[in-house]
Amino acid sequence: MTDRLARRRQRLRARQADRFGRMAEQVHRHNPFYRAKWRAAGFESPPTLDDLADLPFTTKEELARDQDANAPWGTNLTFPLERYVRVHRTSGTTGTPLRWLDTPASWQWFLDCWLAVYEGAGVTSADRVFAAFGFGPFIGFWTAFEAAQQLGCLVQPGGHLSTEQRLRMMRDDGSTVLLSTPTYALRMLESARRLGIDLAGGAVERTIHAGEPGAGVPAVKQQLAAGFGARVFDHAGATEVGAWGVPCGIGENLHILENEFIVEWIDRETGAPRPPIETAEAEAGADDLGELVLTNLGRIGSPVIRYRTGDMARLRAAGCPSGRPTVYLDGGVVARADDMFIVRGVNVYPSAVEALIREAGGVAEYRATVRRRSRMAEVELQVEPEPGADSRSLRSRLQDLFEERLSLRVPVRITDAGSLPRYELKANRFTFLD
Ligand SMILES: [Zn+2]
Repeated sequence: MTDRLARRRQRLRARQADRFGRMAEQVHRHNPFYRAKWRAAGFESPPTLDDLADLPFTTKEELARDQDANAPWGTNLTFPLERYVRVHRTSGTTGTPLRWLDTPASWQWFLDCWLAVYEGAGVTSADRVFAAFGFGPFIGFWTAFEAAQQLGCLVQPGGHLSTEQRLRMMRDDGSTVLLSTPTYALRMLESARRLGIDLAGGAVERTIHAGEPGAGVPAVKQQLAAGFGARVFDHAGATEVGAWGVPCGIGENLHILENEFIVEWIDRETGAPRPPIETAEAEAGADDLGELVLTNLGRIGSPVIRYRTGDMARLRAAGCPSGRPTVYLDGGVVARADDMFIVRGVNVYPSAVEALIREAGGVAEYRATVRRRSRMAEVELQVEPEPGADSRSLRSRLQDLFEERLSLRVPVRITDAGSLPRYELKANRFTFLD
């Protein structure tokens, strides 16, 4: 690490310590959820940043149990209820949705985090930003949308429209930035081809994705970049955490917004801390994924402190070629821990299945069924080819790729065009049977 970088890191740490200390004081005094947790861990007075590693983790299950027991809002509230002005819900892909309340200040903090995402992606006030998003209770692109307006962009809400209507609106109104999940962006490409709309020759210059691993999967990213004729950016965030991942334009690197978040990296099984991988070290291996644990510093009304995100990634020490002084994820968020399954002793993440399917090419949509027979799981694929794709060669391409990369024999069944469900928000392509 150069002296200059070391000094920047020192200043960053001092700012984090100051903000953490001020937050901990308010939380310790007024937030029943954390006060009880911390007291049980022996903290009678507010912890400082130096105490962080001794504080208990916070989990989603724990927050959900608290909301069940103290319905509807739970006890992770630092202020009286009348101070809160918004409520959103997690998408509930894993269990009961969580409700999350924001004050005007914490909402603005979330928007400010998004401004950093836009800065990383090179979005400016000259852009026209289209949100292909349903504007429901899921927080998703609500914050991205409002932040784009604050940045001075022309914002274009695309809720309650068909994919065709969205494509025509983007074309007619000259959208330059698309906000969507990666899954939905692929679906837009499929529809555009069918409708004869030339997206690659259109005005879209950037696409920004969130909601699921995908834009960080190189084969998906390439497909989106070619289809839209655009630069493709991933961002990472969660309803209960905020927008914490900022692209820098170097590969799939995703920086932690360390001005607003404290990151820890742990072994998923044991919870033991891991030091970030030194940036000078060569290629990170496939088996060195760890779980990200985040503490946010600006959402004092409903904070997460040492929150186990379930996001699996490779954390690298500061020193990205982009010159940013923050630590970063090599390849973005690679997978979600909750989604992992084991087939014949091989740990398989749905994002790895997705990567192989996109690499094979020619797939419009797919569905995977994982059958757990006794302790031996089997995985089967249903695949809907793109129009005009040769289904026999597609089947053998896919089977070869799964055999070669994951040492798995995966039966592939080819289905009719339009027979598999399409998704706008979080895709739900995996079925688990006992
Ligand atoms: Zn970077």
